[in-house]
Amino acid sequence: MKKYNISQRFNIIVVSILCITIFINLIVMGFAMLNITSKVSQGYAKMYASEIAHVIETHLSREIGLSLKLARTPSIIEWITNEDQLSKKLVALEEINSFIDLLHDHNMFIVMDRSKNIYFPEQINQQIPLEIAGVISKDIKEDSWYFDTINSDELYNINIDKDRFLDTYRVWINVKVEGPDGPVGVIGTGLYLDYFINENISSNKDKSAYTLIINKNGDIQLDGTANRDYEAYGYSSVYNFINEDRFNAELKESLVSEQSETILKIQNDNYDYAAVSSIKDTNWYVITFYTNGTFYTSNNLLLFIIMMVISIIAIIIVINIFIKHIFLKPFMLLIQSLQNKNIYLSEELFGTNRKDEFGLLSNTIEQMADRLVSSIPIGLFLIDSDFNLIYSNLNFISQFAAKDKEALKSTFKETPELIFANPEDFQRFKSILTLKEKLVVIEMQFVKFTGEVFWGEIHIQYRADNALSHFYEGILLNTQNKKDYESKLINLASTDSLTGLLNRHKFNELVIEEIERSERYGGPLSMMIFDLDHFKRVNDTYGHIVGDDVLVETSRLAKEILRTTDIIARWGGEEFSILLPGTTSEGGYIAAEKLRKKLETHLHSTAGIVTASFGVSQKRTNEDYTQWFTRVDQALFNSKNSGRNTVTVSEDQSDENTDNKAT
Ligand code: GH3
Ligand code: MG
Ligand code: MG
Repeated sequence: MKKYNISQRFNIIVVSILCITIFINLIVMGFAMLNITSKVSQGYAKMYASEIAHVIETHLSREIGLSLKLARTPSIIEWITNEDQLSKKLVALEEINSFIDLLHDHNMFIVMDRSKNIYFPEQINQQIPLEIAGVISKDIKEDSWYFDTINSDELYNINIDKDRFLDTYRVWINVKVEGPDGPVGVIGTGLYLDYFINENISSNKDKSAYTLIINKNGDIQLDGTANRDYEAYGYSSVYNFINEDRFNAELKESLVSEQSETILKIQNDNYDYAAVSSIKDTNWYVITFYTNGTFYTSNNLLLFIIMMVISIIAIIIVINIFIKHIFLKPFMLLIQSLQNKNIYLSEELFGTNRKDEFGLLSNTIEQMADRLVSSIPIGLFLIDSDFNLIYSNLNFISQFAAKDKEALKSTFKETPELIFANPEDFQRFKSILTLKEKLVVIEMQFVKFTGEVFWGEIHIQYRADNALSHFYEGILLNTQNKKDYESKLINLASTDSLTGLLNRHKFNELVIEEIERSERYGGPLSMMIFDLDHFKRVNDTYGHIVGDDVLVETSRLAKEILRTTDIIARWGGEEFSILLPGTTSEGGYIAAEKLRKKLETHLHSTAGIVTASFGVSQKRTNEDYTQWFTRVDQALFNSKNSGRNTVTVSEDQSDENTDNKAT
C-alpha cells in the first residue's frame, strides 16, 4: 500500500492536540508530585522526630539505669547512712569510681541528706575524691532540684540547669537513695547538653528543619541552634515560638492527650508542618518544624522527571494509535480505494450513512457527483448479487418513477420480482448477477412504481477491483420508443393500409410457415382467392372513393364469414387471398360459396351489389407453393371465364383439368 500524506493543516491540528494533552499532563503530574512530596515529607519528618526521641530515650535510659543501680547498691547506702565512717566511705567510693571508669560516665554525684554534703569527680582524674565538693543549701535557688527530688514520689527526676559548682549546663538524672528509715540522700548523673544538641538535634544542620525539646507544658528544654539562652530570644515556651492560635491549640491538645506521634499543620512563612514525638520515660517531646521543601531531595526531582518522560511517551503512543487507527482509518480506506480506482464501495466506506460532519461532507460530495452524472440521459446503477442497489443516478430512479433512491433501493432488496414484467426476466436477471461475465446486454420489460410497463435495455458488467468490492455496474436505456416505432414498421410492412388486412408479402410468409407445419404435423391446407367482378366499372361510375369503400366493406364481410384461424390478405387491387388451415377442398368450397352468396346479396350504399369470382384449391402433398398457387389462380380464371360470380375448385389430386364448377 502506498504512503498517504496528511495535509499541513491536519498536521497542525495533531500537534496542537498533542501539546495540549502534554500540558494538561504536566499540570496533573505537578499536582500529584506536590501531593507525593508533601506525604513523603510528613512521613520523613515523623521519622526524623521519633528518631531523635529514640536516641534521647536510649541515652537517658542508660543514665537512669546506672543511677538506679548505684542508688540501690548496699555499700553506697551504708556509706550514706554513716558518712563519717572512713572504711565505708572507701568501699562506696571504690564502687562508684569503678562504675565511672567502666562506663566512662564522669558526671556521677552523691548528696548526703543529713550533712547536705555533695561529692562529685575531680576535673583532672575524673574520680570522686574523699573530700567534700560542696554543701547544698535550701536557701540557694539553684539547689532546688535536690529538695524536689528528695520530696518526690517519682523513681527519678530529670532537670536541666547550670550546675553552680561546675558552671556547666547538664541534663541531670536524680535518684533518691532510700535508707532503712527513709531517704538518706540523692545519687545521680549528668549528661552534657552540648553532646545532646550536637549529636542528636543539630545533626541535620543542612536541613531547614528546626528541632526543639519541650516538656508537657510546652516549656522549651533544649533547642536545636545549640543556643541555650533561648530565653534571651524572648520565648521560653513553644507557644510563643510559633504564636499561631490554631496550631497552639492543636499542639496543646496533642501534649495533654499524650499522643506519641503527631503531625500538625502550620500557616507560617517559615514552616509548613510540625512533627511531635514523645520521649518515653520522660514528660518531654521532640518537636521538629519543617517546610515541604525540607526533605525534598534531588532524588525526588529525578523521579519526577522520569515519571514525566514516561507519561509523555505514553501519551504520544496513545494519541498516535488513536489518530492512526480510529481517526484516520476512514480516510486511509478512502485513499486506498481511490488509488485502486474503485470509487464505488459501501456506505460505511463513504460515510454517507454517518450522522456527523463526516457524513454531511460525504453526502454533499455524493450529491455533487450525482448532479453531474444525473445530467446524462442514461440510467446508471451499481448492484451486488444480493440485489443491494449500491448506487443509482437520478435518471435510473426516474425511469422507474420511484419517489427517491431509498424507495427504489428497498424494492430492489425486498421485492425484486415486482421490478420485472415477466417472471422469466426476473430469473434471467438473477442468474446474470451470479455470472462473472465481461458484459451482458439484455432487453426486457420493467415495471414502474406507477404500474406502467416499459421496455429497457440493460448493459451490465461484473466488477471486482479488490477483496472489498464485488458488484455489477450497469446502464439502463429506456427502449420503449424504439419498440413502439419498430412494431409500427413491422405493421406497415405486413398490412394493407386501406383494408387493414395482411398484405401479399406477409401472406406469403405465413403460407410458407403453414406449409411447414402441415407437412410436419399433417392435416389438410386449402387456399381461396377471389376477385371482384367488373370492379373497373364501379370506379368508373362512382369514382375511386366509392371503390375504396367497396373494398373496405368487402374485407369486413370476408372477416365476418370466415373463421378466425383463416388468414385473409389483400393480394392486390380488388383481389383477396385466404389461407384455410385444417381445411379440405370441400371445406374451402363451402366457405367460398358462403362468401360468394353474401356478396351477391349485400347492397353497398352507393355502388349497389358487387359480386366476386372465386378459385379454391387444397394443397397437394408433393407440390410447392408456386405450383399450388398457380392452380388456385387457374381456378379463379375459370370462374371469370364461366360468367363470373362463381366458385371453381381445382381438384386436389393430380387428375388435372377436372375442375368443379358451381354457380
Ligand atoms: P373482371 O370482372 O374481369 O375482373 O373485371 P374488372 O373490371 O374487375 O377487372 P380489371 O382488372 O379490368 O379492373 C380492375 C380494376 O380495379 C381496375 C382498377 O381501377 C380497380 N382497382 C384496383 N385497385 C383498386 C383500389 O385500390 N381502389 C379502387 N377504387 N379501385 C381499384
Ligand atoms: Mg382483378
Ligand atoms: Mg375484377
